[in-house]
Amino acid sequence: MRESELLGHIYERSRDLSTAFGDVVIGPGDDCAVVRTSSGDLLLVTTDQLIEGRHFEPDTPIDLIARKAIARSLSDIAAMGGSPSWGLATAALPEGYEHGDALFDAMAEWGKHWNCPLVGGDVAITSGPMVLSTTVIGKPHVNSKSQSNCPPVLRSGAKAGDLVYVTGPIGDSFESGHHLSFEPRLAQAQLNCDALGPDLHAMIDVSDGLGRDAARIGRASGLLLEIDASRVQLRAPASDWLKAFGDGEDYELIFTVTKDTQVEPQGGYCIGRVRTPTDAEPAGCVVIDPSGNRRRGDEFGWDHAD
Ligand SMILES: [Mg+2]
Repeated sequence: MRESELLGHIYERSRDLSTAFGDVVIGPGDDCAVVRTSSGDLLLVTTDQLIEGRHFEPDTPIDLIARKAIARSLSDIAAMGGSPSWGLATAALPEGYEHGDALFDAMAEWGKHWNCPLVGGDVAITSGPMVLSTTVIGKPHVNSKSQSNCPPVLRSGAKAGDLVYVTGPIGDSFESGHHLSFEPRLAQAQLNCDALGPDLHAMIDVSDGLGRDAARIGRASGLLLEIDASRVQLRAPASDWLKAFGDGEDYELIFTVTKDTQVEPQGGYCIGRVRTPTDAEPAGCVVIDPSGNRRRGDEFGWDHAD
């Protein structure tokens, strides 16, 4: 079964969660869940797994494994325009693994580095490969000028006519080591929340590939993101753009902004626009390749099939 099918099942089962539980503002299906506390504050909640042999090679330095485990969850907080608050980490360690203390020390240090102290966790021994799991709780970003909370930026908020931006280059994340050393785009997201306010409509982080993740904004918003492949900067400029769009693990942010905004979006560049879907081109994403051919965004990128 593919990951997208499994996730689809989780979303379907959780469809009426917000109706039955009034404190669930956003259930499964976005970068973070959004829940409301009894005092009315919103919290962002996200969880992620890191599996040896899939998300990192067995000979990866412990510090970089720990860094990636924390950074991936922070990227999801960034994708909601939030700030991280606290984290929890669990590890299933292979029998005989001798560096468990160092691993947890490193995760704790990276948590502190991003103002996200680890406040709990668990450890178990497994006969399989190492599996790390991190959960991060965050809060909506507080606007530095107005001191008011910025509403979470959802995948479903894109509007027809928006321009589509991305915060950095795409592709070759594994070959370049970027997937181990990326900086979660918290600062860029918060800058745009401050600068653009309600003109910042939708956001997602690129984990499974530019086309596939852009399509998620399109489907959630009921619209079509149209991306010009020639405008996308590649991390390795000589590499094949088809592959780059499918590599994934870029952890850049895709975001959509009102076309006639008076403010220049921060820390990103424009790669396309949002259009009304048609019968021939339903909601999702279309990538216009350098020859002018139109390809569905879902053709690119990871759908981890086992
Ligand atoms: Mg995400």
